[in-house]
Amino acid sequence: MLIVDTDVVLVERQLRAGELTCPSCGAALVPWGYGRPREVRGDLGARLFVRPRRSRCTDCGITHVLLPEMLWPRRMDAAEVIGAGLEIAALGMGHRRAAACLGLAEDTVRGWFRRFRRRSEDVRRFFTVALVVLADDPLMPEPAACPLADAVSAITAAHRAAVIKWPQMNTVSRWAFAGRVIDGRVLTSASSAS
Ligand SMILES: [Zn+2]
Repeated sequence: MLIVDTDVVLVERQLRAGELTCPSCGAALVPWGYGRPREVRGDLGARLFVRPRRSRCTDCGITHVLLPEMLWPRRMDAAEVIGAGLEIAALGMGHRRAAACLGLAEDTVRGWFRRFRRRSEDVRRFFTVALVVLADDPLMPEPAACPLADAVSAITAAHRAAVIKWPQMNTVSRWAFAGRVIDGRVLTSASSAS
């Protein structure tokens, strides 16, 4: 799996121009059909239909699904929606209130919070390194109330640094950015993401 831009026209052009590379070996990827169509819940209950492109490596032959950055692996809610929930959690609200705010099932939101709490320290460390790489004069976020909030702050700070470095990143939300930078592993570790 490879996290790519949400713009399907751009991704198609990149794929045909050999600009997307195999995460396993670094060789160019070529088009290889499509992945399973899926329905995704967007903001305010919007239903989005996504049919991810598949690709095949010209060297090692492994196929990779190209997942638009608005999605995270194995999630049926858009990155934006899950990220909004994580921001609510960072403010200290529990999963019940967050679920009510988002109009989603409590179990769903509780699952995100649990997973992200387990990932918090790795995510915080990863995006703190990204911040140092991206910013000329990195301003470290103040310690927050809990590891989950620290992780959200680190993503926010790294995204801000990316926007300063590349103004076109302004059109990419911080949660799409987060998924792109960490290969979709915002809620899941490398071993469990596929
Ligand atoms: Zn390869």
